[in-house]
Amino acid sequence: MRKVSIFGATGSIGQNTIDLIGRDPSAYDVVALTGGAKIEQLAKDARRLNADLAVTAHEDRLGDLRDALAGSGIEAAAGQQALTEAAARPADWVMSAIVGSAGLPPGLEALKQGATLALANKETLVCAGALVLETARKHDAKLLPVDSEHSAVFQALVGEDMQAVERIIITASGGAFRDWPLSDLASATVEQASSHPNWNMGQRITIDSASMFNKALELIETKEFFGVAPSQIEVLVHPESIVHSLVGFTDGAVMAHMGAPDMRHAIGYALNWPDRRDLPVDRLNLAKLGQLRFHDPDEARYPALRLARHVMERGGLSGAIFNAGKERALDHFIDRKIGFLEMADIVETALDRAEAESSLIDAPLTLDNVLQTDHLARKWVDETVAQRAG
Ligand code: NAD
Ligand code: MG
Repeated sequence: MRKVSIFGATGSIGQNTIDLIGRDPSAYDVVALTGGAKIEQLAKDARRLNADLAVTAHEDRLGDLRDALAGSGIEAAAGQQALTEAAARPADWVMSAIVGSAGLPPGLEALKQGATLALANKETLVCAGALVLETARKHDAKLLPVDSEHSAVFQALVGEDMQAVERIIITASGGAFRDWPLSDLASATVEQASSHPNWNMGQRITIDSASMFNKALELIETKEFFGVAPSQIEVLVHPESIVHSLVGFTDGAVMAHMGAPDMRHAIGYALNWPDRRDLPVDRLNLAKLGQLRFHDPDEARYPALRLARHVMERGGLSGAIFNAGKERALDHFIDRKIGFLEMADIVETALDRAEAESSLIDAPLTLDNVLQTDHLARKWVDETVAQRAG
């Protein structure tokens, strides 16, 4: 039996992972499940999968979790430290599906145990790419992409030589506002930004899809994961979300990965890798679809892409600033303190402020430095938002 843990088990990716594992329970020995405020869900899944341990990120919910697990023999724990301790429990395969930079410390801990880390949490590579890759190498741990674009690229690269790769083209649906006039974006509401045309995902990544901050994070993730130059990475808007990404080779050939927009494709590939097994996903009927459309992204509509290009060139801790600034700006948008278009402005202000203190960006890429930088960028965003309000 394979020992598996799921971080962020109560979220959208976590629940899809549980769906796959739950179809073949005798194949898996579930070590730890972690979640946030959805205590009932966490306890229900821990019981169903007979996990050893369930952890909530909220320290003050430990009593509730204990109550919900009473009589099951499943251990309960709470808080950020408990999350990292859960990650230190030996497992063969770990799903990293916490949202935000909070996913970094447990992910690094799992790599230190030599686990195969299935990485849905793109923030891990955006904040600390070189550190994460080095930790994996040192502990002989494997990183597998779960973001659909990166899984697509990974699959298109099977058996290929990276020397023959000319470019990587990541597709983008364009999100909720792809057909809106630019002049309407400033007044877009949280509700409008929270509905995705093709994918059913957590609220934060759905809003990030509308602003293309999600694609911006994915550009950086592509550079870090595949080790290609920023100039080799392109974004292509593809409204149907059927082609999940493409790789162009030096002979002009382009390999595209296609499938129904269902995250269980990418999760299942990482779970079964290097094999392919049956997955409960819709089969494509291209004749029925009839056509697939593609066009270049409009950078005026999506300033996040320009900021990501800057971060890829700048390197160092600029990814940590970019991500934390984005997370905090998104908090303020969700709290209705700032408008939709202000998010990119505010992140850019944080990047400029970091640039003025360049020793900060060029400090060594350690976990401590990433966490401190993350904290600082959030504080800067709060200051900018307060100034704007005042
Ligand atoms: P979600 O909001 O649905 O779930 C997030 C999970 O993380 C929940 O279990 C929540 O309890 C937990 N969590 C939130 N904040 C936490 C914290 N501070 N500490 C510990 N746990 C915390 O998110 P999601 O859509 O499943 O996305 C998870 C990750 O996967 C994100 O990094 C996202 O970018 C990435 N991803 C998601 C999709 C998708 O289809 N949903 C696709 C590609 C990549
Ligand atoms: Mg993606």
